[in-house]
Amino acid sequence: MIAYFKEILVGFWSLLAGMAVTIRYFTKPIVTVQYPREKIAMSPKYRGYPQLVIDPETQTHRCIACEMCSRTCPSQLITVEGAKFPGEKQKRATRYIHEHYYCSLCGLCTEVCPTSALEYSQEYRLAGFSREDAVIDHLLLLQQRQKAAGLPVTPVPTDADIAAAAAAEAAAKEAKAKAAAAAKKPAEGSEVKE
Ligand code: SF4
Ligand code: SF4
Repeated sequence: MIAYFKEILVGFWSLLAGMAVTIRYFTKPIVTVQYPREKIAMSPKYRGYPQLVIDPETQTHRCIACEMCSRTCPSQLITVEGAKFPGEKQKRATRYIHEHYYCSLCGLCTEVCPTSALEYSQEYRLAGFSREDAVIDHLLLLQQRQKAAGLPVTPVPTDADIAAAAAAEAAAKEAKAKAAAAAKKPAEGSEVKE
């Protein structure tokens, strides 16, 4: 009989102890996140995939397609192409592909970039159904980020734009070479007369 009542008391005590823990945590701030309905702000030090910086002045990227990042990347996972468009002093990227499944987040690409055009994203939702899901087209991603931030969207040059830019640059080089040759001839002629 004593054992019976003892068992009831122990059970009741354990119920109270459990309820005390529940009540104690009931008043504490919630630390769980209702993912995917809620998102958390990552630490500024978090390293998502490297992405193009949106320049606050120009509201577009700063990539001049120098290929330093792609040459430095130990995993050789960056493909950059660029063209020089009429009226512009430097080349700019026409294609920037990042195969993120090989990326070790070593940071070499962000460090070597001469225009500080790369930064780490804060993206942590990196799961995908296929390998291709981890291939990032950074010019398209930039457009999505610009749209989300309400900024003007940077157009991605088409093949026709790139071909026209290459033809214009070749013509400009040829004209420059001809002008240099023409300027050299009279000087050479005056040397013969003397
Ligand atoms: S972080 Fe490292 S591995 Fe990843 S793209 Fe940059 S250089 Fe390559
Ligand atoms: S190093 Fe910088 S500027 Fe050069 S291609 Fe890479 S991102 Fe563009």
